[in-house]
Amino acid sequence: MLKTGIIGLPNAGKSTLLNALTRSHRAEAANYPFCTIEPNRGIVQAPDDHLRPLADIAGVQTTIPAPIEMVDIAGLVAGASKGEGLGNRFLAHIREVDAIIHVVRCFEDENIVHPAGTLDPVRDIKIVSTELILADLESAESQLEKNKKKAKGQDKEAAANAVLLERVIEQLDGGRPANTLHLEEDEVSRLPGFFLLTAKPVIFVCNVAETSLADPGADPRVNEVRQYVEQHHQAAFCIFCAKLEEDLGDLDDDEVGEFLSAFGVKNSGVALLIESTRQLLGLASFYTFNETELRAWTFQKGMTARECAGLVHTDFAKGFIKADVVACDDLIAAGSVSAAREAGKYRIEGKDHLLEDGDVVLFRFKT
Ligand code: GDP
Repeated sequence: MLKTGIIGLPNAGKSTLLNALTRSHRAEAANYPFCTIEPNRGIVQAPDDHLRPLADIAGVQTTIPAPIEMVDIAGLVAGASKGEGLGNRFLAHIREVDAIIHVVRCFEDENIVHPAGTLDPVRDIKIVSTELILADLESAESQLEKNKKKAKGQDKEAAANAVLLERVIEQLDGGRPANTLHLEEDEVSRLPGFFLLTAKPVIFVCNVAETSLADPGADPRVNEVRQYVEQHHQAAFCIFCAKLEEDLGDLDDDEVGEFLSAFGVKNSGVALLIESTRQLLGLASFYTFNETELRAWTFQKGMTARECAGLVHTDFAKGFIKADVVACDDLIAAGSVSAAREAGKYRIEGKDHLLEDGDVVLFRFKT
């Protein structure tokens, strides 16, 4: 399963955000055995309007939404790249994730200590980014040495790596994350092989006060962050109030609307943040159903039918014969599987076919 790491300075609101994202759909969370591995890890479920109508067509009660794993990576302080705080352990945790949610404290609260003493979101971003950039510099320099040595032995791959690493180092030296580097076509697939922290996709989340939610454009700190991120990062951007979203987790559906409107807000930000994360990761969903449940599976765009079958069960991939595929909108419009088949909406696809977001799939396999 793809994994997103939540980073930021202490008291930025990371664990509150993780709580908000995981608790808002906690009823279904029990379906995932790993949702309680550790207190700082959660399975976030993508809200999905297709689940119910598809379950009705499948004639089942149970729906299981598509999961994304999120990890609260606590412990970053200035000097982490030199071993301060949790130091290297913290950085190793970031290395494992596929994307990063960077929480930036934009809320004022004198009862909650700010590790740097004052509220200054752009400075906070710089503190965190600097640690990641320093860690990457060290890693890139040592990889450059190794690749240069190999390149002397006429290793063409190593020579190409060395050229890119030199450009990466120049970028990092200038205080810019590796993902802001303009890559040539052949370099796009090479960069991930260096496992750099600043090469990962990022969303900056401004954690604002409840009172800023109604008109976040009027919050000067939010504007500062937005501008800074646009100029210095290659990243998505989102406004969220972790505290308020966490409080929503305790309310019934009816109460949520009332609670939100008290702050001049229409919708919870949870769905938006999850959707941004999915887009950032290039994630999509396909659906399967049997006699008891309809289930959404998260896959990465570009995966083949056989690879997707492997997400459901390794036997499905091993014995893959073919997949019956229909777009969920076509199936819902047809109203039943037989009507969709009669209308010619089902396709029979082979192992190399690339699944698309929203495909409903029946895998056929031999055991
Ligand atoms: P972490 O260290 O980044 O994980 O921060 P926490 O999520 O533990 O939050 C630190 C404290 O700030 C907690 O007491 C939260 O309740 C509080 N907090 C988090 N988000 C907000 C917010 O949007 N507004 C206010 N007033 N407090 C918040």
